[in-house]
Amino acid sequence: SSTNLPTKMRAANITEQGDFDVIQVRELDVPKPAQGQVLYKVDYGGVNMWDTYARSGVYKPGIPFTLGNESAGEVVAVGEGVEGFKAGDKVAAYTTGGGFADYCIAPADKLVKLPEGTSTRDAATVLLQGLTALTFVKEAHEVKPGQFILIHAAAGGLGLLLVQLCKHLGATVIGTTSTQEKADIAKKAGADHVLLYGEGRDIVSEIYKITGGEGIDRGVHAVFDGVGKDTFDMDFDLVRRKGTIITLGNASGPVPPFAPLKLAPKNLKVCRPVLNQYVHTREEFQTYSTELFKLVKDGHLKLAVHAEYPFTADGVKQAQKDITSRKTSGKLLIKVA
Ligand code: NDP
Repeated sequence: SSTNLPTKMRAANITEQGDFDVIQVRELDVPKPAQGQVLYKVDYGGVNMWDTYARSGVYKPGIPFTLGNESAGEVVAVGEGVEGFKAGDKVAAYTTGGGFADYCIAPADKLVKLPEGTSTRDAATVLLQGLTALTFVKEAHEVKPGQFILIHAAAGGLGLLLVQLCKHLGATVIGTTSTQEKADIAKKAGADHVLLYGEGRDIVSEIYKITGGEGIDRGVHAVFDGVGKDTFDMDFDLVRRKGTIITLGNASGPVPPFAPLKLAPKNLKVCRPVLNQYVHTREEFQTYSTELFKLVKDGHLKLAVHAEYPFTADGVKQAQKDITSRKTSGKLLIKVA
């Protein structure tokens, strides 16, 4: 049911994986929504570390591939059997690619209608990282009042949202960042303590001081770790007995295999969740999305945008360069329309 749609569109696309220069903006066909799918005109795409993994080869999406796994805009056509969406609705989705394009397809099950007063810019800023933060603090480790929670890369896109949610849930939040400037940003977002990590810095003993306790009962109750390779070993020292390590990303590289016996000295748990499996059903996705937008509306989650980048090959490349060079804090957006 589409009228007056162009047949061609721009898309930030890769035909091979590799360095930043594989990113191009090409002319592709405007996709047609199949059964159960919705086509929307994109206003904003949200940039995630995921895009850089898909471009570099850490992850293996099918090639050719259109980058952008989060975007927001306005519905222009719906496929057969779609209920609850119509042309003109403002929506947002996270998708396996396709978001950095003039038009994007999403299954209706994974599309959220924006509540009154929520802009497409805000939606593209918060949807993916916000759903990740929200589902992880409930399901990967249930954050409770009085717990000590450590968040690595606390001034990042996901990090700033995790900091605010954990504070909202009553935890004492410790963050790590690479620079003092980022530490100040994480503190402003609500972190009780922020430690600078990196070469020669002993953050483990600082965490013992903050958390108190003796022997294996000192340290945090859980650590949310999107840094990966560089921090994973240290996580075993800084969590307390019966604590949880949530390894959730590869910003410094993927975590190598480890022996389960490493968990025994403190009866630790390790989990490696991805957002998708927490919002697998339509009901899960809609329930969490509704809760997320309410948290934003009620002021419990403040959104921070690092920068908007133009929808050109150079713009998309620059966004990936910036997010991987550790210079950014908060969300990076591609302004598509
Ligand atoms: P961020 O905005 O957090 O950017 C990445 C941050 O990681 C940097 O700012 C930097 O902060 C830190 N970092 C540490 N070491 C490195 C390194 N060697 N190279 C680059 N960055 C480094 O990105 P996102 O919010 O998009 O993602 C954060 C993490 O969460 C990523 O690992 C991502 O994959 C993961 N994620 C996982 C999801 C899931 O479903 N499991 C969903 C969404 C995100 P600093 O300078 O302070 O160290």
